[in-house]
Amino acid sequence: MKILVCDKLSAQGIERLRQEAAWQVDVKTGLTPAELLEIVGDYDALLVRSTTKVTAAVIQAARNLRVIGRAGTGVDNINLEAATNKGVVVMNTPGGNSVSVAELSMGLMLAMARSVPQASGSTKEGQWDKKGFTGVELKDKTLGVVGFGKIGMEVAKRARAFQMNVVVFDPYVSERLAQDLSVKLVSLDTLFAQSDVITLHVPLLESTRHLVNAASIAKMKDGVRIVNTARGELIHEADLVAGLDSGKVAGAALDVLSMEPPAKDTPLLKHPRTIVTPHIAASTAEAQETVGVEIAEQVRGFLKDGIIRNAVNFPSVSFEEYKKIGPFLQLGESLGGFGSQICQGRLSEVGIRYYGETVDINTHLIASSILVGILKPILGDAINLINARKHLDERGILLIESQSSRVRSFSNLISVRLKTDAREEWVEGTILSQGRSRLVSVDGIDIEAPLHGAILFIRNNDTPGVIGQIGTLLGNNQVNIANFALGRGESGQAVGVVNVDSEVPERLLQEIRSCPSIRFARVVQL
Ligand code: NAD
Repeated sequence: MKILVCDKLSAQGIERLRQEAAWQVDVKTGLTPAELLEIVGDYDALLVRSTTKVTAAVIQAARNLRVIGRAGTGVDNINLEAATNKGVVVMNTPGGNSVSVAELSMGLMLAMARSVPQASGSTKEGQWDKKGFTGVELKDKTLGVVGFGKIGMEVAKRARAFQMNVVVFDPYVSERLAQDLSVKLVSLDTLFAQSDVITLHVPLLESTRHLVNAASIAKMKDGVRIVNTARGELIHEADLVAGLDSGKVAGAALDVLSMEPPAKDTPLLKHPRTIVTPHIAASTAEAQETVGVEIAEQVRGFLKDGIIRNAVNFPSVSFEEYKKIGPFLQLGESLGGFGSQICQGRLSEVGIRYYGETVDINTHLIASSILVGILKPILGDAINLINARKHLDERGILLIESQSSRVRSFSNLISVRLKTDAREEWVEGTILSQGRSRLVSVDGIDIEAPLHGAILFIRNNDTPGVIGQIGTLLGNNQVNIANFALGRGESGQAVGVVNVDSEVPERLLQEIRSCPSIRFARVVQL
């Protein structure tokens, strides 16, 4: 077995690999892309941190490659698609550096509250300015944590020890978990309005890009302080500078910037009330050691015993089984995505029931695919079949699976119930004989609609004219209808699933919602 370590990795980690007698472990850091391309062909495993770029060309050239191990969390330096296409497992070590990042976040918070870098700079320049650096205490202040994942939770625990009140915004965390950690779940606007300090711990997604901008800053308390150890693009930097200049924002502490390294004249670097560090939150001896040893163990487990742990791109099934289960995984992800996008309220429980021939196949993976569909709108590509259950667990959301021998009208059927604090969503789907996914019931009302692309979903009163009204509104706005399915329930309630060929703009959705017979309308994107 030949293993290439391209970035600096903990010596203990490398030692773990060298313990295998017949294994050759080459440590070659600082290779140019051309040098890497030239030598990668012979290796079975590649171990990297964030420096080496594992491009499609590298993966293509790596004839024997079976696994890429990333010591750390982000896999932006690895071409996942190329790896997946080639059947190369990509593993990372999520959580190995959470404490380090949380500790820097606390450090930045304290440094900002007491102007530590500024006071130190002034003293070293010969001043003794005891009056110029009056700070504030963290005690009894409100900390707003945006994103309550591994790092957000560690920050909250530490902030509680500083006797701060902690409010949290994260739509995918349950009340139960929040209570366990003595924090309060609130809406994003409430968090903005109540927090003295705001700390960001969300991944960079379309929904989180520029989360801090002029409009959100306007909603914040006067004198708010902002910490960002997540991703630079979460903040609209020009708007933050304006907030700092006006005095609305008292300070900002940033370990990450939208351009790294930044241009020398970047206003945030020059501003007297910012603290900027060069993306060092995870750079501690402990974190590097932990992730180095973890990745070495994971890669060893895979090469030796075929055990797949913390893979970001691969289901743990044989190729044959994967072929059989494929259509159900697609159905599961679509059903989960549909259910979560029509969901109202905070999710606390996912119930899945399998009927017919689905009970005989790997329902563990089908459930994971449903969870991928549910969590993808919020976690993006970070969620996959391998890590979906872990993400659900971390959010304190219950998963209840059951199988039923009750005969239904379909040879296979998957039923998904999403319980929230507001209501329960219930959707069911099947695979038709041609392998196509179909939605067959919503809210217990029979309906038949394809499960892909853009879908307008409505709940309406069963009165004449609804199809005409919706059709006209969509038509007048050049939105072409591919399929229109209506289902009628008892007591005059009905649901409609309209597959459309293009986007339904928000303005049109508002118009649809204002129709007297329409009780609910959402656009779902699968
Ligand atoms: P995580 O996946 O454990 O947690 C992210 C949380 O954000 C999840 O709970 C998710 O539900 C929530 N979330 C997603 N979209 C949201 C939204 N729109 N609003 C509110 N919450 C939302 O991730 P983590 O390990 O805690 O990492 C958090 C961030 O820290 C990531 O962006 C990561 O890249 C960054 N990070 C930075 C460094 C560094 O060196 N500065 C090191 C490690 C991680």
